[in-house]
Amino acid sequence: MGAVPAGSPGPPVDEVSTAVYTVPTDTPEADGTMSWDATTLVVAHVRSGTTSGLGYTYGAPATAQVIDGQLAGVVTGRGALDVPAANEAMSRAVRNAGRPGLVAGALSAVDTALWDLKARLLQVPLVRLLGAAAEEVPVYGSGGFTTYDDGQQDRQLRHWVADQGIPRVKIKVGESWGTAEGRDRRRIARARRSIGDAAELYIDANGAYTRKQAIRLGGCLADHGVTWFEEPVSSDDLAGLAQVRAATGAEVTAGEYGYTLPYFWHLLAAQAVDCVQADITRCGGLTVWLRVAALAQAAGLAVSGHCAPHLHAHAAAAVPNLRHLEWFHDHVRIENRLFDGVLDPAGGSIRPGADGAPGHGLSLREEAAAAYRVG
Ligand SMILES: [Mg+2]
Repeated sequence: MGAVPAGSPGPPVDEVSTAVYTVPTDTPEADGTMSWDATTLVVAHVRSGTTSGLGYTYGAPATAQVIDGQLAGVVTGRGALDVPAANEAMSRAVRNAGRPGLVAGALSAVDTALWDLKARLLQVPLVRLLGAAAEEVPVYGSGGFTTYDDGQQDRQLRHWVADQGIPRVKIKVGESWGTAEGRDRRRIARARRSIGDAAELYIDANGAYTRKQAIRLGGCLADHGVTWFEEPVSSDDLAGLAQVRAATGAEVTAGEYGYTLPYFWHLLAAQAVDCVQADITRCGGLTVWLRVAALAQAAGLAVSGHCAPHLHAHAAAAVPNLRHLEWFHDHVRIENRLFDGVLDPAGGSIRPGADGAPGHGLSLREEAAAAYRVG
């Protein structure tokens, strides 16, 4: 398209469409409170003229029905440049559907697609549209599922640290709702031996422990140099998070199930975390993710992107209080398989926009994706 006229909300969004892909995991995966053998990617495409933007979320296939039935009509016809206005209109439109959960995932997918569309219309990398706070975005390797045996865990952790030079890794703990605490402890010790003394070691319980159990485990984390204790208790238990935080030297973190901006306000007001995690595919898209980062900054905290690393990359580079992005095994595998334009984490960081490609630089590999399409 030609230049966008100054003072205009831009050309209209002509079409919003969806596609759903379910990709089997390479081996069965579980964390402290769930197990799965496939992951579903819900893609939102937004088109203005001959230019298209792409966004996505990981969630139930029904997310696509929310986009098609509740959001497409709200966004179609709006000026493509005014993304916050579209985000607000979508937010208001889902009042009776109920925003948290897959509705927020749907809204987030469309929002991120709109930001990609805008950057492509203006023919700049998304990070340039937003304005960079840094050129490099640190990542940490994330996996270490409770279903892995010792050898699998060793291989995965060493791949990140030794092969890729990523000096930060995370494993899942809290196996079977915290009922296998002995194995958790052995796996933590083994993880430290796998990665050596230099790399940072994080653990994530996905809310599996009770408060006192988490405090007891927290007391031994320093022995293994564990510096990050994610969701030691349910992220809905803000008082519990704050209790664990006060009782352990490891940083307590949460926020991945934050579907609204006020959730993050409550998380901060409860002094529940040392680092705010936010997921651009759930919290309301890039529009809201930036606001979460600002809230965290005002509280003196950093923000870390949860999962879906390629969709976070440009937003992450735009905030000054970024900690890092989660280089989540499951999602990295899917994004590498289904998208062209993926980033290289060698050395422990990525450089979004460095190749000058417009938007977030991702494009769906239609042929590769077709085999996984379920909707
Ligand atoms: Mg987590």
